[in-house]
Amino acid sequence: MDIGPINIIEKSDSKVYQVDFTLKEQAQQLWFEVSHCPSISLTNNADSALLALLLPAMLAKEDIHIKDAVSERLLFNLNGPYQSLVLQQIPFLNRINISAERCSSQVAAGEGVISGFSAGIDSFSTICDYFAEHSPKQLKITHLLYNNVGSHGVGEERLFKERYQQLRTTANKWDLPFIMVNSNMDDFYGKVLDFQLTHTIRNAAVPLLLQNHIAHFLYSSAYSYHDVFVGPSYDMAYSDLFSLPLMSTESLQSHSVGSEYSRIEKTLKVAQSEYSYEVLDVCVKGDSANNCSHCDKCLRTLLTLDLAGKLELYKERFDLAVYYQHKQHFIAKLLISDDPLLKEIVVWAKQIGQPFAIKHYLDAYCLLLKGLPKQLLVELKKPVKKILGAVGLYQAKQYY
Ligand SMILES: [Zn+2]
Repeated sequence: MDIGPINIIEKSDSKVYQVDFTLKEQAQQLWFEVSHCPSISLTNNADSALLALLLPAMLAKEDIHIKDAVSERLLFNLNGPYQSLVLQQIPFLNRINISAERCSSQVAAGEGVISGFSAGIDSFSTICDYFAEHSPKQLKITHLLYNNVGSHGVGEERLFKERYQQLRTTANKWDLPFIMVNSNMDDFYGKVLDFQLTHTIRNAAVPLLLQNHIAHFLYSSAYSYHDVFVGPSYDMAYSDLFSLPLMSTESLQSHSVGSEYSRIEKTLKVAQSEYSYEVLDVCVKGDSANNCSHCDKCLRTLLTLDLAGKLELYKERFDLAVYYQHKQHFIAKLLISDDPLLKEIVVWAKQIGQPFAIKHYLDAYCLLLKGLPKQLLVELKKPVKKILGAVGLYQAKQYY
C-alpha cells in the first residue's frame, strides 16, 4: 500500500484532508471533511491517513509506504507495539512493515483538549469529569468532536447530520466549539473489520487532523479497570487503556478516560446532569436520531435508571411504554448473560435491596433451555473437528 502525498483543500464552509493510496493494486482515495471549525487549520502530515488505513493494510497483508511526513513516535509504535497488541485482539490480521519518506519529531504548540460528544453515557460521564470547575486546567475540554467513521449504521450520512444538529444545541449551551468530521474511512474496512471491532483506531485517526491546535484527545472508555484485557474479542474497547497511548504523537496525546467507574456509576453520575434529560442518546438501532427504547443498549440504560428511581427524568428521550413491554424479557436475558455490563446490574440490584423476582429466574431458565440445542451442537462438533484435524481435513483458526 502506497499512501500519499496529503492534500488539504479549503472550501467555503469546511476543510478537506485527502490522500490517494493503493489497496490490492486498486487506486483509492481516503478523505476527511472537517466543518464547524473556522479558526483551526488541518495538519498536513500523514498521521491520520496512516492510522485510518493500518488495519485495512494488515487485513490485505500489504506493507505500507508513506510518500509524505509522519510522526516518528507514531511510526515506531505502529510498526512495533501496536501491531503486537492488535494481533492479539484480532488474530486474523497480518503483521506488516511501515516505512515513510520523512519522519518528524516536531512538537506543535497546541494546548486544546478534545473529546467526542455523542450524548451517550460514556461521553456524558467524560464531560462531567473533564468539563467542570474541578477539572485540571491542562485537561479541561476546550473542543467537542462528532465523527462519522462508521458508527451511524443504516441511514449513515443523513443520520450523522441529524444527530449532529440535535447535539449542537447542548454544545452551544456549554459554549464549546463542536467540530463535525465526515469521512469515507468505513469503505475500506469491509464487513470483517466491523465498527465495534475497530472503533478506537478509527476514532483516534480524527483528532490527529487537528494536532496543530489540540494537545490531548480524551476517548471515553466503555469498560472499567476490572474488565479490560488484551486478547481476542469482538469489541476493541477492551484494550483502549493499552492501545491509545500507542496512537499518540509528539504533539497529541490520546488517553482512555473513565475506567475508574462501573457502567452503573457512570449512569448515576450522568443522571445528575440536567442536560442529559434533553439529549441522552444511547441507542445503536433504528434509522432516526432518537432512542428506540427496546435495543439492548436502551434497555440496559433504562433498567439502571428504573432501579435508581430516575426513569421519569428521561420520559422525553425514551418511549417508556415500549420499555415496559420489553422489560421482563430483558431481565431474563440479563440473568444468563456473560456481558460484564449486564452482570454488574444483577449484583447491584441485590446490593440496593431490589433483587430480581423468582419469576425472572424462571424466565431466564426457559431462555437457557431454548438456547441449549445450539450450544449442544457446538460441543458435539468439537471431537469431530479434532478427528478431521488429525487426518489433515480440517484446520482450526490460528491465534497469534
Ligand atoms: Zn435503542
